[in-house]
Amino acid sequence: MKFDILTLFPDLFHAFLQESILGRAVKRGLVDIKLTDIRSFARGPHRVTDDRPYGGGNGMVMKPGPVYRALQAVDRPKGKSLVVLLTPQGKTFEQSKAWELSRLDQLILICGRYEGVDERIRKGLADMELSIGDYVLSGGELGAMVVIDAVSRLLPGVLGGENSATDDSFEDGLLEYPHYTRPQVFKGKNVPSVLLSGDHEKIRLWRRTESLKRTLERRPDLLKKTKLKQEDEAILTKLLETKKSKE
Ligand code: SAM
Repeated sequence: MKFDILTLFPDLFHAFLQESILGRAVKRGLVDIKLTDIRSFARGPHRVTDDRPYGGGNGMVMKPGPVYRALQAVDRPKGKSLVVLLTPQGKTFEQSKAWELSRLDQLILICGRYEGVDERIRKGLADMELSIGDYVLSGGELGAMVVIDAVSRLLPGVLGGENSATDDSFEDGLLEYPHYTRPQVFKGKNVPSVLLSGDHEKIRLWRRTESLKRTLERRPDLLKKTKLKQEDEAILTKLLETKKSKE
């Protein structure tokens, strides 16, 4: 899959694109990431990319021309391609959206700065607007990294078999169960004995129960949206009974 990032700060991405899972995916050619410096599409001796807002008010606005020309210069191989504008006013990015985007051939991400990009870019050129949460960042670069990271790990081969994403939180609408590794005892605290039992069915059931318990405690909103299996319903009923008896 190809990612194109349009930004005024391409240097912010270097370590992110070279390290760990994403770095390996880039090296193995599973993802192709191109950085486009919007400033190099600005005109005039000072290559100005922002200007004062019409109507007055605080801050500066990213001029539409450099963003437009940067977008025109992006190489678009055949296939499904989408232009995404990062903005706190967009739809909140979730795991289901990550899956949807992972089916594309190319994702073009526009990172805003200052008060954001001129409205005519948003209206005329962006296919989708995404927010990474209800807070305001100084720029869209962190948002672009979040989207690239979440989408890449869903692409075939990026995580490798043993690290598949299928058990991860949100994959089946629940939070994931807790994890333990060596040592068996840490600061007097033991690993749950079921995980040492070697009994795969017992471990599966324990993990499913923990997953449901965590979701019930921390994100009950997720349970309302999730279609639960019969086994899950039975576990949940028990968990709710236990909770009630403690109250
Ligand atoms: N004035 C804008 C507003 O109130 O909606 C906020 C602009 S913000 C300071 C600058 C840029 O950071 C935005 O254009 C956007 O690209 C990025 N940004 C900020 N918060 C974001 C968020 N929660 N999700 C995605 N991008 C964000």
